[in-house]
Amino acid sequence: MKRTTMARPSTSAVPAMKGRPRSEAAPAEPVSNPDNISDAIRGAVAAAMQKALPQHYTPEFAANFANTMIAELSQANTRPLTAAERGTEWMLRWGCPGFCVVEHGHPQALDSHSTAPVETSLRTADLECSGYSDGTDNLPWLTAQTVVTNDQPQAFGRETSVWLGYGLHLAEISPAKARKALNDLRTFTVQLADVIEFAERVAADDFDGDPEIARLDEEARARRAGRA
Ligand SMILES: [Zn+2]
Repeated sequence: MKRTTMARPSTSAVPAMKGRPRSEAAPAEPVSNPDNISDAIRGAVAAAMQKALPQHYTPEFAANFANTMIAELSQANTRPLTAAERGTEWMLRWGCPGFCVVEHGHPQALDSHSTAPVETSLRTADLECSGYSDGTDNLPWLTAQTVVTNDQPQAFGRETSVWLGYGLHLAEISPAKARKALNDLRTFTVQLADVIEFAERVAADDFDGDPEIARLDEEARARRAGRA
């Protein structure tokens, strides 16, 4: 099954990228000082929170909220260029499909072509409860991207896969297998919702222990251990 047409990059095959901000197309005026914008966002968030949620407002809570917003906004502004945006010469040179955002030529660049991954805002560290960290705290919980491998396509053809990341793990699977994973995930989210709903009902009866009783219990235990 040879698809020679795919080796020929064509801007007509480029998916619409509406709403995708391009750094070089950014308006010249108000973006001049990102610090001012960040300060403005922090101020606006604090003011809005004090007004709408006075009972929950703390400067730390407002700052955390604002910092998340600022991080998301700056990520949108630093979105990588697609091969189509880089132009035909780039696409021909690297055999890139228009959607590819890989920085070919960079020492750590992927050999294949890839979309920018979509990812959960939840990081692995947010779910970490063991207290141990292996330095991968900043990894997203889940990621997914489309990857095309077309090195020497006349000889080896072209293969599209979905890379499904979960923490440190990366599954390189066919679109069909990814579809199966999605269907399984959909079923799982329904089950997860049931588990959470049940846990929330059960948790309504949770209570804190008495630290004084806990201390006495601890001491009694230590005495018993000392006697043994
Ligand atoms: Zn590429």
